[in-house]
Amino acid sequence: MTTAQLIDGKAIAKAKRTEMKTVVAQMKAEGTVPGLAVVLVGENPASMSYVKGKIRDCKEVGIYSELIRFPVSVSEPELLEKIGELNERDDIHGILVQLPLPKQISERKVIQTISPEKDVDGFHPISLGRLMTKQDGFVPCTPAGIMDMLKAVHVSIAGKHVVIVGRSNIVGKPASQLFLNHDATVTICHSRTTPLAHYTKQADILVVAVGRAGLIGAEDIKPGAVVIDVGMNRNKNGKLVGDVEFEEVGEKASFITPVPGGVGPMTRVMLLENTIKAAKIRNRGRKINAQ
Ligand code: NAD
Repeated sequence: MTTAQLIDGKAIAKAKRTEMKTVVAQMKAEGTVPGLAVVLVGENPASMSYVKGKIRDCKEVGIYSELIRFPVSVSEPELLEKIGELNERDDIHGILVQLPLPKQISERKVIQTISPEKDVDGFHPISLGRLMTKQDGFVPCTPAGIMDMLKAVHVSIAGKHVVIVGRSNIVGKPASQLFLNHDATVTICHSRTTPLAHYTKQADILVVAVGRAGLIGAEDIKPGAVVIDVGMNRNKNGKLVGDVEFEEVGEKASFITPVPGGVGPMTRVMLLENTIKAAKIRNRGRKINAQ
């Protein structure tokens, strides 16, 4: 039996979408419809399902969305040209290129071609640089969603020891910077950290973003820790599970996120938030932190 308080990402995200509906309706009344372009290359089933979800979310809150599809054989120049066109369009405020991309295309080039003003995924080096220097900008959706979940359950961050397992550019690294910006003491662990438990046991807030089911058990955490499970794995029965042993860790933690229904829905909702933000900025006719 889980004694920890569940951080219900699904419910928090739903409440955020309800608020967003009102904001978008107001923007529409004032003449701006936030617009998101979603670029999908190929037919990877996971990517197709993510994209479908993103478009459904946009519809729900009233954001205009446009799906642009390319065959898996698309050339890099062709894809970059399309991004260039989207950069120029006034009705498109956010551009998302669903990753991963086929190997003839450089993800780095694609990300860097998206205008930083439309970088709603927050993966552009300018967005990451803004995050690092604590300037306003687009924060990658998963770390931003984690922050919002903690805020929703009133978990304070300043002065806490936050241990992040995983150092990807989309989750671990930006999450560590975001926590640092919120005055946490941050430790980043990764595949070469030994012994991992030595670090995870010191965490007041533990964020696990690895992609390995069962990586974190009850013996790996401090009693009363706040545990955020980013991992998404299929167990042998095909069930979606995180990186954390939910039941046993839930008996020792103070707060825990479930998988599914935790970080995933928050990630999705933050894309909408970033798109609305992009439209507001564009609407005001100013660039973020123009120097
Ligand atoms: P990734 O797959 O790019 O990298 C995994 C990271 O884990 C690496 O930094 C690596 O150093 C670290 N690692 C690997 N083995 C380890 C070990 N034994 N001990 C400690 N660290 C180890 O990472 P990612 O793209 O951030 O994805 C991580 C997981 O989070 C995946 O399961 C992914 O599906 C999931 N994810 C979920 C969401 C969501 O919205 N819920 C969003 C993004 C990613």
